[in-house]
Amino acid sequence: MTTDLRLPTDRIVRPDKDRFLNEENPFEAMMSRFDRAAELLDLEPGLYKVLRHPEKQITVSVPVMMDNGEVEVFIGHRVLYNTSRGPAKGGIRFDLNVSLEEVKALAAWMTWKCAVVNLPFGGAKGGVVCDPLKMSAGELERLTRRYTAGIISTLGPDSDVPAPDVNTNERVMAWVMDTYSMHMRHTVTAVVTGKPIEMGGSLGRREATGRGCMIVTKEALKHLGMPIRGTTVAVQGFGNVGSVAAELLQREGCKITAISDRTGGYHNPNGIDIEAAIKHVRQVRSLEGFTGGDQITNDDLLTLDVDVLLPAALENVITSRNAGKVRAKIICEGANGPTTAGADSILEEKGIFVIPDILANAGGVTVSYFEWVQDRGGYFWTEATVNERLTDIMTRSFADVLQLAKQHKVNMRTAAYMVSISRVATVHRLRGIYA
Ligand code: NAD
Repeated sequence: MTTDLRLPTDRIVRPDKDRFLNEENPFEAMMSRFDRAAELLDLEPGLYKVLRHPEKQITVSVPVMMDNGEVEVFIGHRVLYNTSRGPAKGGIRFDLNVSLEEVKALAAWMTWKCAVVNLPFGGAKGGVVCDPLKMSAGELERLTRRYTAGIISTLGPDSDVPAPDVNTNERVMAWVMDTYSMHMRHTVTAVVTGKPIEMGGSLGRREATGRGCMIVTKEALKHLGMPIRGTTVAVQGFGNVGSVAAELLQREGCKITAISDRTGGYHNPNGIDIEAAIKHVRQVRSLEGFTGGDQITNDDLLTLDVDVLLPAALENVITSRNAGKVRAKIICEGANGPTTAGADSILEEKGIFVIPDILANAGGVTVSYFEWVQDRGGYFWTEATVNERLTDIMTRSFADVLQLAKQHKVNMRTAAYMVSISRVATVHRLRGIYA
């Protein structure tokens, strides 16, 4: 298998940056859920303070020689939110919207995500403020290498392990790995995950997040006593997560009645041929012009009469303004932060079963963990082994969260935060405060 090393041409498009009202501030969104779970757990005040602060925040200036011979300086961040359970884990994004506040929120999110699936990792995130689509491959390589050199003191298989995120890919991870290895004077594959298969990447990583969504959706259907066969599903976002989840759910017998991407949505009550849609995207690089359904808007898709809604594009799409109109029985959050805190209570009142992002899309970081384990062991697994172990972890994590939700009579999101926070808190209590 040869790895596709092209840089992404499609990307998450935030329709309007001014939409970031307080309801949609990522750090506030994360903290309001954290606070509720911490209160229910009766977290001691000292530990509450510790977990509300990131361990380490690094900001670096990244000078890059551009192709026109001029030097440009970019700003990069890396935040290690919490490393009590193990090395920090979290992606690096290249985007104009990157800010320290956002990186901090995403690093905290990674801490809870790794803990909810019980991986021996802490949480981190990194980003560089830039527009990668306007940069040449050479400029991006120089940016990546200089940013890596800037944050190298935190990096390492035992301390901080990045992965791809918005607008970065396995090509970028290969540069990070090479730069780190050059500094260490030997090859260190386990310093990043999401690498090309040929240099220590894991089989099954590309499909892992979508596969994880499929697994937890099946568990939710089972829990609610709904059959899988014939279950109707609407998927927003037809990229890595959305297209794989749609394909695998269709294979399990679900009927995917709507899909969408940044160019718009398509609805077909008889079920969309997902294979045909994937083929279309491969050729055209978007769903534009797809003839397998009637055109709808992305907003229409969210309020369709379906059993399962799978938002897998961008954050803050289900808000207090449209949550009342959502008709799905289950929401599986493939994207990070698709539901605002303001929408949570509305969905709960309506009895909608939400599989929260930190659980629903944890399949990706779980197979990243497998990649790290395989690199460190120098022994690589078959795709079947990867998928079997992923199924095991996702199923077990769903059950852990559901059990706590029933025990405390709370929704799945609050329960997921309670599971993660109590796991991180337990390790802090055991380790004590170093003085
Ligand atoms: P991707 O770039 O492969 O796909 C994104 C899709 O969303 C594309 O189809 C794009 O056209 C569509 N899109 C962009 N803007 C849109 C808009 N305004 N309205 C509707 N659709 C829009 O990205 P991905 O890797 O599939 O990630 C999707 C989401 O899942 C993100 O929130 C990401 O953070 C999250 N996530 C991804 C992974 C992973 O392993 N890829 C893991 C965890 C979480």
